[in-house]
Amino acid sequence: MFKALLITKNESAQAVAVTDIDESQLPEAAVTVKVEYSTINYKDGLAITGKSPVVRKFPMVPGIDFAGVVESSSSDQWKAGDRVVLNGWGVGEGHWGGLSQKARVNPGWLIRLPEAFSAKQAMAIGTAGYTAALCVDALEKHGVTPAQGEILVTGATGGVGSVAIALLSKLGFKVVASSGKASEADYLKALGAAEIIDRASLSAPGKPMQKERWAAVVDCVGSATLANALAQTRYGGYVAACGLAQGMDLPGSVAPFILRGVSLLGIDSVMAPLPPREAAWKRLARDLDASALESISTLVGLGNAAAAGADIVAGKIRGRVVVDVNA
Ligand code: NDP
Repeated sequence: MFKALLITKNESAQAVAVTDIDESQLPEAAVTVKVEYSTINYKDGLAITGKSPVVRKFPMVPGIDFAGVVESSSSDQWKAGDRVVLNGWGVGEGHWGGLSQKARVNPGWLIRLPEAFSAKQAMAIGTAGYTAALCVDALEKHGVTPAQGEILVTGATGGVGSVAIALLSKLGFKVVASSGKASEADYLKALGAAEIIDRASLSAPGKPMQKERWAAVVDCVGSATLANALAQTRYGGYVAACGLAQGMDLPGSVAPFILRGVSLLGIDSVMAPLPPREAAWKRLARDLDASALESISTLVGLGNAAAAGADIVAGKIRGRVVVDVNA
């Protein structure tokens, strides 16, 4: 037996509880992993609270990421003792996930834990941090450089935003952080933000074309914020869109695309193929300071994971929540 957070559902409501699970209940797959740490991402909050239909079948163990050690494997890709990380692939949505002491997954979903990180550090980064790295990779691939001007990060105190600020400032960018949490200005500056703007200045519907300011944008928020960010992006600039914390809609116009040559880059972490995953983790190992990781993350036990899930959806979390599934 082992412990996992389990989401169950009857006709009217869903329930979430730490539950004893028999190993025979794990889904069929080739690799069994002894999980050490998992995390609470925004999507895990949606799954745990049931606020959006993230979970595709019940009962479900949530947790879209984990780090741990291979316990057994019938695939020759992995052997007992290998240290691994998993991000996405529908784990915690349609396949039992990481908020559990054990997980059984397909071999192609795992990557090797980078040597630079402990399992706990890898989960302080988690899917949010790996997504931030995908955003930075996308901007760099399109030739965005610090010399081109300021870069905007929205949803700044969140997991993706925090890691994006740390990575971009390390690369020499002048980062402007958009946040609703005025009290976290010192936190954002310590991560490397040069300036902080109130997210209210971006969150209401605005004009299709606005004063040009940003050379590039990492947007975690979507909706009117993304539309305004596009409308303020300078000629030929790039906007990496990865999130929907404000909303899934995009109430803007094509004007920034057709009159300023602005490009919108879509970022998906869930089904991203192996090469960009490995490149993103390589960037994190190279460019993310251990001190930044310390300030970004807080630690909870499995028993507090559901409460943290509710908090992230309520916008009460700063940075990243790491879950010690064995505590
Ligand atoms: P967090 O909840 O940690 O951060 C989101 C941040 O957005 C909050 O901290 C807050 O920052 C801001 N925010 C929250 N609510 C609103 C609102 N109503 N209007 C404007 N801003 C708001 O989430 P993550 O950082 O983990 O994820 C960010 C987004 O990216 C989420 O939507 C998530 O689903 C998505 N995501 C997408 C991935 C992909 O593959 N594309 C992978 C990972 C995440 P502040 O208080 O500083 O303003």
